[in-house]
Amino acid sequence: MSESPSPVDHPVAEPFFQAAAEGRLVVQHCNSCDALRWPPLSGCPECRSRDTTWVEVAPAGTIWSFVVYHRAFSRSLKDQIPYTVAMVQLDEGPYLVGRLVEGKKPPKVGDRVDAEFLEVGGVSTVRWRIA
Ligand SMILES: [Zn+2]
Repeated sequence: MSESPSPVDHPVAEPFFQAAAEGRLVVQHCNSCDALRWPPLSGCPECRSRDTTWVEVAPAGTIWSFVVYHRAFSRSLKDQIPYTVAMVQLDEGPYLVGRLVEGKKPPKVGDRVDAEFLEVGGVSTVRWRIA
C-alpha cells in the first residue's frame, strides 16, 4: 500500500488527468461504435476497436451508489475517515468513481452532483459535490 495513492496507474489514463488539470472532464469515445467509456482502456469493450478519441462531457451526474469508508485505504487518508466514495453516472452515461464532498444532508442515491477539480499529491483529479 503506497503512502500517497496516485490515481494515475497507466499511461492510457493520462489524458483524463491532463484535462482535469484544465478543469475539464473527459472520457473515451469509440470512433467505431460511438460508445463512451470509463475507465480508460486501450480498446473498446463493446466492439474491440482501438480507434479512440477523448471527448469532453458535462461535469455533472447522479449518485448511482456510494460507500462510507471507516478504515483508511492508505495512510494518507487516515485523518479523513470516515469519508465517502461515490459511483456517479454522468449525464452522458459512463460511470465514474470518486470522492464525494459531504453536504449539509447525508448523500442518497439519485442526488445530483457536480465535478470539482483539484490537485492531490501533485496529480489533478476529480471529486464530486452534491449540487
Ligand atoms: Zn466500440
